[in-house]
Amino acid sequence: MAEDKLPTRAEDFAEWYNKLVLKSDMADYSPVRGCMVVKPYGWTLWENMQAGLDRRFKETGHVNAAFPMLIPMSFFEKEKEHVEGFAPELAVVTHGGGEKLEEPLVVRPTSETIIGYMYSKWIKSYRDLPVLINQWGSVLRWELRTKLFLRTAEFYWQEGHTAHATPEEAKEETFRMLDVYADFCINEAAIPVIKGVKTESEKFAGAVMSTTIEAMMQDKRALQSGTSHYFGQNFAKAFDIQFLDQSNTLQYCYTTSWGFSTRVIGAIIMTHGDDQGLVMPPKLAPIQAVIVPIYKSDAEKSKVIEVADKVFFELKAAGIRVKMDDRQEVTPGFKYNDWELRGVPVRVEIGPKDVEKDSVALARRDVPGREGKSFVSQAGLASTVSSLLSEIHDSLLKRATAYRDANIHDSETYDELKEAVTNGWAFAWWCGDAACEAKVKEDTKATIRCIPLEGQPDAKGKCIVCGSEADQKVYFGRGY
Ligand SMILES: [Zn+2]
Repeated sequence: MAEDKLPTRAEDFAEWYNKLVLKSDMADYSPVRGCMVVKPYGWTLWENMQAGLDRRFKETGHVNAAFPMLIPMSFFEKEKEHVEGFAPELAVVTHGGGEKLEEPLVVRPTSETIIGYMYSKWIKSYRDLPVLINQWGSVLRWELRTKLFLRTAEFYWQEGHTAHATPEEAKEETFRMLDVYADFCINEAAIPVIKGVKTESEKFAGAVMSTTIEAMMQDKRALQSGTSHYFGQNFAKAFDIQFLDQSNTLQYCYTTSWGFSTRVIGAIIMTHGDDQGLVMPPKLAPIQAVIVPIYKSDAEKSKVIEVADKVFFELKAAGIRVKMDDRQEVTPGFKYNDWELRGVPVRVEIGPKDVEKDSVALARRDVPGREGKSFVSQAGLASTVSSLLSEIHDSLLKRATAYRDANIHDSETYDELKEAVTNGWAFAWWCGDAACEAKVKEDTKATIRCIPLEGQPDAKGKCIVCGSEADQKVYFGRGY
C-alpha cells in the first residue's frame, strides 16, 4: 500500500506525475516501447478538448479531412531541413503483404509532405485559395524515453495545413491559429500561456517562422503547448504547390501548419494537480460533478436516494456532466478520496439531514477541506453548480497565473539568469545571436522558450550574455 502511495509534489514531482497518471486511470504503459494507452477517463478529457478546439477551427473557416498515415520515403527528401529534422525519429515500413516494398513508407511523424503533395494536385488557380484543412489523428516519432502524455512515440493531435496566395495572408493565418490555441488554453483549460516566436534554433524543421504558446508547470519547467508555423514558399517549392494568379502568372503558394496534441493533457495535470491528485479544469472535466449519497439505515437510504436521483436528473438536464456514485461496497470517505484523486471539480453530498433541510453540501476540488465546502438549497441547484463551476475555472486560472508570474524573474546579469533558471524562468535581453543562446543552454540547460509577442519594452537593452545591443527580451527556462 505504501509503495502505491502518491508522493507529494515537493517530495518528487516527476514521480508524483507518473503515479498520478496511472492511479487516476488516465493512461497506461503499452507493450510497445514508447507508446501509451489512453484509458477512457483520459480519452474523455481529450474528446472534450477536441470539441473545444474543433469548434474554434470551424468558426475560423477550417474544415476537417483525413490523409493516410503512410508516406513515401522520397517525400521526406524533397525538403532538406524537414528531412534533416525528422530523420532520426522516423519509423519506416519496408515490408507489406510478406514482400519487400519497392519504396519504403514512413509512418507519418507529421503530414506536411503528403498534404503538400495533394495540394499541388488540387490547387490550380487563385480561386482555389485559401485552402484551410485540419486533420485529427495520431503521428509517430521514435522516442525511447517515455513520459505518459508528455513524450511518447505515438501521440494524438490535430494538424492544420493551409495554403494562401500571399505571405501576408499566410502569416495572418499563423498568428490567428496561435490566438485560437491561446484562447482555448486560457478559457477552457485555465492554463495561462505566453504567445511568442521561436528562435531560429528552436523552430520547426522547414519553417520560416515558428510560433508557440508556453506554459509554466508547477515544477517551474516550461511546456510548449501548441505551435503554429509559417513556411513561406519552402514546402510549396518542394511540392510544386502553384497557382495562376489574377494576371495569369504562375506563383508558388505560401503555406502554414499548426498542431496541438495530447501533451496538453500533461500540462493540465502539472498546472492544476495537487498532492491529493488531479484537479480538472471544469470546462473540460470528464465528470464535472459527482453525487455521493450518505446513509446508514435502509430507511435513510430510500429517502436519500430519492433526493439524489432528483438532483442527478436536474443537473444532467442542465447540461452538467454529472455522475452518481451509488457504489454499495465502499464508504463515502473512500468515494471522496477517489473522486479527489480524479479531480472532479464539484462533489455533491446528500445525507439524511440534507433531505430534511432541502439542502445539499457542495465541496470544491480546488479548495480542499472545510474552506471549500458550502451548504446550499436544493432549489435552483443546477444554476448554483453551474456558477460554482465557472468560479472554479476563474480561480484555477488566477492561481496558475499568479504562480507563473511569481516565478518569472527579471534578470539583469548573467549570474542572475543562471540562478533564475534553477527556480523559474528568466526574462532577459537577448541580442539575437545563436551563440549567446547556445551558451545559456550549455551553462544552464535552459533554452529560449520564446520571444514574446506582447510585453516587449519600448527601449533597447544589452544582451544578458554578450552585452551587445539588444532590442528584444526573451524567456529562458528549462523545458519538457
Ligand atoms: Zn548576445
